[in-house]
Amino acid sequence: MQNEQIQITLTSTKKPKPDPSKLGFGHVFTDHMFMMDYHEGQGWHDARIVPYQSISLEPAAMIFHYGQSVFEGLKAYLTKEEEVLLFRPDRNFKRLNQSNDRLCIPEIDEQFALEALKKLISIDRDWIPAAEGTSLYIRPFIISTEPYLGVAPSKSYQFMIILSPVGSYYKEGINPVKIAVERQYVRAVAGGTGNAKTGGNYASSLKAQEIAEKIGYSQVLWLDGKENKYIEEVGSMNIFFKINGEVVTPDLNGSILEGVTRNSIIQLLKHWNIPVIERRISIEEIQQACHDGLLEEAFGTGTAAVISPIGEFLWQNEKLPVQDGKIGKLTRELYDTLTGIQNGTKPDPFDWCVKL
Ligand SMILES: *Cc1c(COP(=O)(O)O)cnc(C)c1O
Repeated sequence: MQNEQIQITLTSTKKPKPDPSKLGFGHVFTDHMFMMDYHEGQGWHDARIVPYQSISLEPAAMIFHYGQSVFEGLKAYLTKEEEVLLFRPDRNFKRLNQSNDRLCIPEIDEQFALEALKKLISIDRDWIPAAEGTSLYIRPFIISTEPYLGVAPSKSYQFMIILSPVGSYYKEGINPVKIAVERQYVRAVAGGTGNAKTGGNYASSLKAQEIAEKIGYSQVLWLDGKENKYIEEVGSMNIFFKINGEVVTPDLNGSILEGVTRNSIIQLLKHWNIPVIERRISIEEIQQACHDGLLEEAFGTGTAAVISPIGEFLWQNEKLPVQDGKIGKLTRELYDTLTGIQNGTKPDPFDWCVKL
């Protein structure tokens, strides 16, 4: 346990709050941020909360050249009783350390990071939007800062947490998205960094995403990097299918990011005695299930959208509709239950929420 105090410097010029009805995702940041430094030999030190501000790095800072960085994403909700709930934050800091390990970034003290986050949120508490569907998005991240052009793990890092009030993902109600199955590019391979939350995975995904958007598809479904055959995940979401009464999702094979939402959905389904199986799923199996009329539902899971129903897949120029393109019954139940647990309007049988 880190025995360090957090130095707090409050801003003297509070920013105006954004119009709650016009919140998008990730454009607006609160008044303060958390920072902490690492230097080899010294460890993590100088934990501080300061006014949200630009940071200064040398052009030689290793982050700009070799991309050694990791991040997390989670949300805080304001309940009707004006309590602040964090959804399973321990999982995020644990995963941050798993990503750290893969990227040769020194481990952080998970308990201390959670305490720092709570402190930061309590200072910027009046930035948490109250309207239904809105929340405070939390972005912890670590970058390498040593000014050095040799290829090696950096000897210095900066850990930061920034906060962004975000609007409802579904302003016009939950509408299923159309997803293009990617045939040419891959996101991750076994042994690569697919199961780490690191910026490079996203950098390499942009090209396919751009092409998919041009032809009217909102996201890409990635297949495995070796055989281009087995389903992995969507841009920033894990994926589930309901086929002939059974829920299936790709198993964690090392190149898939283990989503906190994915884990929560699996636990909820088991709690409801609905069969859910983690296994390899080929795109041909989905195509066949669609032809046979057995592809009942499909949805993506991730912190930003929580659950995103899928209405159609495009695979090798063939459109594969999921039922009638409307949100499925189970998808709707899962969405209502999980968002209800997160915003405190439904019971939390798993003790997932942490009060500020
Ligand atoms: C963050 C992320 C997810 C979703 O994880 P959650 O913990 O549910 O938000 C899925 N896939 C990728 C590639 C991600 O980066």
